[in-house]
Amino acid sequence: MVMYISLFSGGISSFESTCRLLDEFPNETRIWFFDTKIEDQDTYRFIKDCEVFFNMKIEIYSDGRNPWQVFRDERYIGNSRITPCNKLLKRRVLENKLHEEEFDNERIILVFGISGDEDYRGKRISEGWRRKNIYTKFPLLENPIYYGQGYEEFERKYNLISPRLYKLGFKHNNCGGACVKAGIKQWTHLYDNFPNIYLWHEEQEKITRQLLQKDVSILRDRNGGITKPLTLEALRRRIE
Ligand code: SF4
Repeated sequence: MVMYISLFSGGISSFESTCRLLDEFPNETRIWFFDTKIEDQDTYRFIKDCEVFFNMKIEIYSDGRNPWQVFRDERYIGNSRITPCNKLLKRRVLENKLHEEEFDNERIILVFGISGDEDYRGKRISEGWRRKNIYTKFPLLENPIYYGQGYEEFERKYNLISPRLYKLGFKHNNCGGACVKAGIKQWTHLYDNFPNIYLWHEEQEKITRQLLQKDVSILRDRNGGITKPLTLEALRRRIE
């Protein structure tokens, strides 16, 4: 029997993708969530609500570390181009789990909630896993293609409360709104909405810079045509 594993990110798109999958393969689906240990607290509430909606357990796995612990271990701070956090806290944990469960690659299909506006990612993801002999599925890229929806529409449609980050204007519900791939605008938004969480990341960046003894940071300052590191501390002072 083929097993479909829905890689649930805690966001609305992966919810929609899981719904489509369960409609098609209700008895051959499992749902996995990879916890980076810096998720927004409301994500766990959303996961529980989704479990009731799907009538299925969402299995939570983690490496045990958060992205900053990974950056210190890897001696590299993640940024918009390179994300060791994603590689080690999500992809590697997924690979380990597949290995641990001794799945036959030919009988596994990984399911991603990639929507129509980012279909270019689908091709890359699918080619990457194919090299490992694993098939992928993208329910949102199948007809009718899903191009995303607002949280109000989502709530009306499913009678569920969406993750609070959407209501606060964040585009994605991952890593508590503190994704290293995000730019200055989102980090400023994080500071405006969750100053304590921002300050925690600022402190983590400081500790990591000291450990690495290097002028490195998540963000880049491109003012004046010169690109240089912009620390979260410097950005906060700028905002203030
Ligand atoms: S969401 Fe961003 S910060 Fe979190 S693991 Fe992925 S790349 Fe890293």
